[in-house]
Amino acid sequence: MRLIDSHCHLNADRFDGDLDLVIGGARLAGVERILVPGWNVASSERALAVVERHPWMDAAVGVHPHDAAKVDDAGWATVRRWASDPRVVAVGETGLDFDRVFSPIPDQLTNLRRNLRLALDTGKPAILHCRSCDGARDAQDALVDELRAAGIGGPVWAAAFGDRPPAIVHSYSGPADYARTVVDLGLAISFSGLVFRRGEEAAATAAAIASPDRLLVETDSPFLSPPGAPRRRNEPEWVAVTARWLAEQRGVTQESLGAALVASYDRTLPSQRRP
Ligand SMILES: [Zn+2]
Repeated sequence: MRLIDSHCHLNADRFDGDLDLVIGGARLAGVERILVPGWNVASSERALAVVERHPWMDAAVGVHPHDAAKVDDAGWATVRRWASDPRVVAVGETGLDFDRVFSPIPDQLTNLRRNLRLALDTGKPAILHCRSCDGARDAQDALVDELRAAGIGGPVWAAAFGDRPPAIVHSYSGPADYARTVVDLGLAISFSGLVFRRGEEAAATAAAIASPDRLLVETDSPFLSPPGAPRRRNEPEWVAVTARWLAEQRGVTQESLGAALVASYDRTLPSQRRP
């Protein structure tokens, strides 16, 4: 099966000792694309370094809601500069996290708005993290309000992105009607091992209704190990577990889903470096 990993933190220090082995394992498992997103200034720089020697891998630079209050104006200016680097195909990860609230919500909103602005300015899609407390949906509702307020779905973003997705909902989590809303806004949806967790049953609906050309899978390594993967550290080769689940939800063969995932990745995240 052809595979992609649209969100994989190989820039995390847990991969320092054996990064080449992990990348080799992913290749053997059929993973043809890996996107390495930053979450703050240092990890964005590290993402650029990790993909440097691998033109089939891509980086994203941006600021995660957890780090929203920690990145100063000079740090943000640096991220902005990196965003036009040819190794960078997306802005992120950014978004909202009302579950752990490591940064105050007003700071998360300011951070999200400037990351969205950077996506619009560069024509590179925003990678959106969105989590509410168990059973709640306040972060998803706030995110949709922000996307609409930023004009996503309207003419300005259409001029910058054409018919490509302006943003990617990373590691899908949320109620089924939220999936419908983000599909209608033209966003891509990426599924992770989170779909196997209790409380995430609506992901099955999202998997069924996502547009075939806006469909992605990811590991969010080193986090969110799917069933069968080592709990201590998830790795990109385990994206196969979630991809098989997605093929089942959509009632298609693994072969046809794999081909669709690669096509969807290339359309959503174009790169001049990719061989
Ligand atoms: Zn992530």
